[in-house]
Amino acid sequence: MIIQYPDLKNKIILVTGATRGIGKTVAESLATQGAHLVFNYRAGKEDVADKFKKKLMEMGAEKATPLLFDITNTAEMKDALTSFSKEFGSISGLVNNAGVSKDQLILRLKEEDLDQIIDTNLKGTLLLTSILSRQFLKAENVSVVNLSSVVGLMGNTSQSAYSASKAGVLGFTKTYAKELASKGVRCNAICPGFIQTDMTEGLDDKAKEAYLSSIPLSRFGKTEEVANLVSFLLSQASSYITGEIIKVDGGLYI
Ligand code: NDP
Repeated sequence: MIIQYPDLKNKIILVTGATRGIGKTVAESLATQGAHLVFNYRAGKEDVADKFKKKLMEMGAEKATPLLFDITNTAEMKDALTSFSKEFGSISGLVNNAGVSKDQLILRLKEEDLDQIIDTNLKGTLLLTSILSRQFLKAENVSVVNLSSVVGLMGNTSQSAYSASKAGVLGFTKTYAKELASKGVRCNAICPGFIQTDMTEGLDDKAKEAYLSSIPLSRFGKTEEVANLVSFLLSQASSYITGEIIKVDGGLYI
């Protein structure tokens, strides 16, 4: 069930990591609400981006604009976003969704994996939001939604780098909310639990079983269940909510 918010129609919303998983469902649900979807894709994925653009338009997006950038590449991000704003105006919704995870015990932590996780999940989120902040000052009803994780709140064996990156996103969310509230910019974070996507498909059966037995609602989450909250936080239905952290985890971390 996709909940619709009429004020999202024509709103210019950037969703990172929309080519798969949670980000894809978020972008699709925003398309059905008539938003102008902006999404990034990485070099070599032009075909995927082109097909996805067509799909979003068929679903009802006012416009769909793919931008070529990797969120670990600052120059690429700046170029793409400057050209975009010159042509289309200010982005007023941002969903910082792109992320990576690589599970390993702290004793086996590889520096290159730590760099990739922090650069993508934490530094990428901060830099992209910072680059867009000047545009936000010119836009109305700006809302930033950051995808963190329950493991950023509760920690998890084998996820020291990932949980640190996601806890960092929570600190950033609260700081950004405080800094920009007076300019009418809101910022909130979502902490999903175990949602069925490529990221969680990579876990072995033992880990999946262990999660399932500790989820009070006794099932994994669906991407739509995160997307509905993203829409709510982007819309003016949540106009008095900022700096908040909301779990979508079936009770995993109560
Ligand atoms: P997926 O692995 O299914 O998709 C990740 C997306 O991020 C892909 O579109 C990928 O692009 C993109 N991406 C990764 N690195 C970069 C980069 N450097 N630059 C640009 N894009 C990049 O992830 P999920 O949908 O499962 O997760 C989405 C978010 O939710 C993540 O932040 C994740 O940490 C968080 N989350 C997910 C949970 C879950 O259970 N699934 C639980 C808790 C949090 P490409 O296709 O090019 O690789």
